[in-house]
Amino acid sequence: MINRDLSAFVKRLMPSDSGLTDNSKPVSVWTELDRLRGHPEKTVVAIFRTRGCSWYRFSSCSMCGYFNDVSSTVTSEDLMKQIDSVIHYLGDTMILKIFTSGSFLDTMEFPAEARDYFYDSVKDRVDKLLIESRTEYIVKRNLEPIQNRKINTRIAIGVESTNDEIIKNSINKGTGFSKFVGAAKTCINNGFEVRSYLLLKPPFLSEAESVIDVQRSISDVAPYSTDISVNPMNIQKNTLVEYLWKRGLYRPPRLWSLARILLWASEKGFSVVSYPTGGNRERGVHNSSSDENLLKLIVSCSLTQDFRDLSEYVRNADLSQYYDEIECEDLLPVQFDYNLALRDMKGAADYQF
Ligand code: SF4
Repeated sequence: MINRDLSAFVKRLMPSDSGLTDNSKPVSVWTELDRLRGHPEKTVVAIFRTRGCSWYRFSSCSMCGYFNDVSSTVTSEDLMKQIDSVIHYLGDTMILKIFTSGSFLDTMEFPAEARDYFYDSVKDRVDKLLIESRTEYIVKRNLEPIQNRKINTRIAIGVESTNDEIIKNSINKGTGFSKFVGAAKTCINNGFEVRSYLLLKPPFLSEAESVIDVQRSISDVAPYSTDISVNPMNIQKNTLVEYLWKRGLYRPPRLWSLARILLWASEKGFSVVSYPTGGNRERGVHNSSSDENLLKLIVSCSLTQDFRDLSEYVRNADLSQYYDEIECEDLLPVQFDYNLALRDMKGAADYQF
């Protein structure tokens, strides 16, 4: 399941740990809306600074730049201090999402004593918890401490695509769909919910191909998922995707593609959400021109699961340029960012020799 050349190249792009972080503080904590209990409500999100994903020791996923936030010197005591500050921030909010730069259930990244401290801290404070993990750490012994404390938990799993060729030769995830199925069954059999993450437009796929891949992946993961989060590519620093993008060989997906996927999924009755990072920005999901209304509709319809306003917006729009662009892109061996290429050409034309 590993393309060794791709893995080695991705590894070369990763910076070494600067060691200049304050390990006692989380990377970030904020409040946003999500619908983990079936309706939109205030949710606290915390990113803990950890030693990072175990996969980083070998390589990284081609789009993942979370290694920029890790510290190799984080201890359990540091994590407990971070937990205290998250609990302080929580106030009376009852919904909590925890991100690490990897897997919360990975004992190498988040030691068991720190996890226990976390569970004891939240068990009477939180009505719904979301944690993230790679599939290999979703095993009974890691779930039991949560079950014992009766914490209502959804586990988010980065499936990205159910096509193992894409996982191996584009995303470099070092896993596969059958592993997701096994982990999701373990979650379900032990009373946990599952959120499946899918990636829109991994490198080396055209946008048209990726739309089809996400649609097929939604159908594949739906039987195992409480909900499915479609994550359009957001270009992160020091990643393979950034390397390609800076050379004009990659363009992030368009908002129209994301809207089409959500509408297709909602018509089929799937529970699908999308809260894009970096939307309408150069590094995130964007059309040929900024469309704040479309981005807002994608988020608000995700929260309510009522997609009628988004459907009407798309129905009344002229998508001819969008379809021309993605059909043209589909014929090319690489996915140019036209706007960046034109800007660079203009810059070259303006240059005074
Ligand atoms: S498994 Fe997750 S944290 Fe680890 S490299 Fe991939 S995307 Fe990043």
